[in-house]
This record gives sequence, C-alpha cells and structure tokens, in this order.
Amino acid sequence: MISSELILKRMGNQKINYDNVLRQMIKKWQQQETTPRILMHSCCAPCSTYTLEFLCQYAEVSIYFANSNIHPKSEYERRALVQKQFVEDFNKKTNQNVLFIEAPYEPQHFIKEVINKNLQDEDEGGKRCDTCFEMRLDLVAKEALKLGYDYFGSALTISPKKNAQQINTIGLEVQQLYDVNYLPSDFKKQGGTMRSIEMCEEYNIYRQCYCGCVFAAEKQGIDLKKVSQEAKNFKMGLQ
Ligand code: SF4
Ligand code: SF4
Repeated sequence: MISSELILKRMGNQKINYDNVLRQMIKKWQQQETTPRILMHSCCAPCSTYTLEFLCQYAEVSIYFANSNIHPKSEYERRALVQKQFVEDFNKKTNQNVLFIEAPYEPQHFIKEVINKNLQDEDEGGKRCDTCFEMRLDLVAKEALKLGYDYFGSALTISPKKNAQQINTIGLEVQQLYDVNYLPSDFKKQGGTMRSIEMCEEYNIYRQCYCGCVFAAEKQGIDLKKVSQEAKNFKMGLQ
C-alpha cells in the first residue's frame, strides 16, 4: 500500500498541503484499483461526518474512538454514544458498513502524562495538545496494526480549531514506530468544515462546547457540573 513518504519527499521543504498529499494517495489507489482499509480516529461525531462521507468513496473506513483525554466520564460516554449513533445513521442512509470501535477509557494515563510533563497550564493548541494527539494517534496506530488496517489517520484535521500541520507531523512521527501507514489529511481544505456543519444539522448531532480535557475546560470557564448533569440527562433520555 502506498505510503505518504515518497510524496512528501518530492514536496521538499515547502509548507505541506496535506490535503494535496491525501489526494495524490487516492489517485494511486485508483490507479492500482485498490480499496484500502483505514482506521480513523475521531473524538466525537462532528469531525467524523464529512470525513466519512469523503473517505468512504475510496476506502473501507472504521472509526476508532480512543479519547481518554475527555473529562468528565459522563461527557466521555455522551460523546461515545453520539459518535456510535452517527455511524449507525450514516450506514443506514448511505448503505455503508463503517465500524465503530471504542478503546478503553483510561483517563488516569492522560492526566499523569500531563502532570509529569507539567503541561496543565498550556494553551489549547500547545504542548499539552501535542501529548494528547500523540497518545491518541499511538493507540490508533497500534489498533490498526493489530486489526490489519492499511492506514491509520485522524478526523481532527477538519476542525477549524485544530492545526493540521501539528496533527500530521505527529501522525507521521507515530508512523515511524509501527508497521502501518499514516494517512495525512487536511479535511478543512475541501470545504469540509462547512459540510460537517451541514451534516451535523442533517443528522441532528450534538456539538460539544469544549475540546475535551479538564485543563482546557477550566481555562475556558466551562461549568463542568452542568456539562456532567446534561450528559447524564442525555443518557437517561436514551433509556
Ligand atoms: S476536534 Fe472537537 S469537534 Fe472535532 S471530533 Fe474532536 S471534540 Fe469533536
Ligand atoms: S485541549 Fe483538546 S487536544 Fe488539547 S490536550 Fe485538551 S483535550 Fe487534548
């Protein structure tokens, strides 16, 4: 299966357009008449909407929900349920067979890592996020390898609040550690953000008001008690 390394080498030192890299890889799949299997990380439904709509045209895609950074647990559970529901609705509507796979929720690993590296007060997008992306992409790569996927990647590059250069750099570093290819992307370059907003309305998807960790939520002044209560009410409503 084609790796992004050759394409990236040809691009030299210029600022990399990762959407362009992805499109070149898709061209290769088409020339080779192959349908790769991709394990995509997603941390809640919104970023996975357009990402699935786009990638499912060329590949067999599964969603890996590996997000021990999310606090509190009730909110984690809410996002996991919404993600799972979206995958089911998407499959029904588009006749796809996307799988939803969930990693164990182990927030103590993330919290320990942040405290050990003294990253509690970092701004969103800074070094704490490097650690957070690395932790999650590492899990996705391991799972992709274990389950025999051709690529691992992340839906997060669609988010206007996330830096695609940062996520792709970490993804390519993680690729060096495992025998599975990273799938570079920058889904917001394709009008993906607008389409994901449309799809959230179409599928009636919950959009959270903070990224996920307790550190960013507190800095942002989020009322976590309220978040937790709303998440519990949401779960009750499903029973
Ligand atoms: S980046 Fe934000 S909107 Fe996108 S999947 Fe993660 S939490 Fe959801
Ligand atoms: S702000 Fe988001 S990406 Fe950054 S560390 Fe917190 S949960 Fe992770």
